Amino acid sequence: MNCNHSNRSTFIALSCGIALGLAGISTAAPLITVPWNGHVGAVSFTFDDALETQVLNLKPLLDAMPDVHVTFFLTAFQDRLKDNAAGFAALANAGHEMGNHTISHWHLTDYTYAELNQDVVEFADTIEATMAKYGADVKVVSFATPFCENSDKVKSVIDKRHMINRDCTYDGARTFWDEEPEWMSLPAKIWSRSGATVSEMLNALDTAAYIGKFDNSIPLEHPITDGSWLIVLQHDVSERMIDNYAINPDDIKTLFERAVKNGLWVAPLGTVAAYQRAHFVLDKAIFNKIDNGYSVTWKLPHEHMPKSVPLRVKLDTTRVSSKTTIEQNGKTITPESDGSFIIEFMTKSLTMRNTGTISLPKPQQSIKAYTRFTIFDLHGKKLGITNSFAIPETYPKGVYIIRAEAKGLTPITRKISR
Ligand SMILES: [Zn+2]
Repeated sequence: MNCNHSNRSTFIALSCGIALGLAGISTAAPLITVPWNGHVGAVSFTFDDALETQVLNLKPLLDAMPDVHVTFFLTAFQDRLKDNAAGFAALANAGHEMGNHTISHWHLTDYTYAELNQDVVEFADTIEATMAKYGADVKVVSFATPFCENSDKVKSVIDKRHMINRDCTYDGARTFWDEEPEWMSLPAKIWSRSGATVSEMLNALDTAAYIGKFDNSIPLEHPITDGSWLIVLQHDVSERMIDNYAINPDDIKTLFERAVKNGLWVAPLGTVAAYQRAHFVLDKAIFNKIDNGYSVTWKLPHEHMPKSVPLRVKLDTTRVSSKTTIEQNGKTITPESDGSFIIEFMTKSLTMRNTGTISLPKPQQSIKAYTRFTIFDLHGKKLGITNSFAIPETYPKGVYIIRAEAKGLTPITRKISR
């Protein structure tokens, strides 16, 4: 584990306070979700197009790296799912994720609803059935758009069957712990021989782990103030120099090794997404007094979540006794060595006992504590100031960034539409 929780805890508690402020109630449970499963940041390596080289050249590397788990986006294009099914089933059984990249690998934005339904919704079931035939119990929850072409219509169909969709971008877009991303359009950094050098990819992995000097980073969409979640898009894993999207096996191995060395959580897209989605839900979970304790309950954020979502939580000991125990399904959960508890988010409830009196969040943990709200455009250009997370009506319709600041508080940055 490479994570200092002390700063993080303050920040999370703060965001709990904000959630309460907005809801006008003060009953969110005294639990803090631990960012990125106890790591400083996360990286999800994704490999598209069901290519044979991913089985031949990548699988041996992955088999030798137990801390690295990745996502494969499968397609039936050119019979690739059928031809490589045994190899991908073996990868699934080794803990890697299988996601959906359509039957046709064609331009989804040109499709009718009926065509989308077949290519996006029904193919997810086909992947599961094919993997089952080869002995792998797979639940598809992640999608990736071919050519990263997306639209509101495409998103609405993806959302019917998947809890996350990956698009892409050529810049180093990344996701921060306390900022809910657009789940139907997560940005990924694309590897290509002409586009990204190995050293540029290594820098991106350092930035995700908050290693380096970022004092002068332009506030752009996100000032770099902490670790983050980086998503990387790869295709062929081979030495074929003729293929611009291929990466040499030695180079991908170098990237994996750096990610592990940096203490990043190297986990599949669906795993990290489910964990972060769970965080936003649990931070608002309500608790109720029951005999000899409190029950905490919540709802699932999407119908198509992974079968299991282990979520690492800590007690907010400013509000509850440090002797509090946590139970799920009648069993007491043994704390980890760092005092955190790994709960099963998919169980939708837990019981807290020996809590003492649960106190309310501190009043200063409120959005009202922020005194300065600065408006930026999406390129980081400062446009003006305002007095809350709202864009004044004098601004043209569009998407803006607001950064809230106050002495002694961690700045919060949010994307706001008007
Ligand atoms: Zn593709």
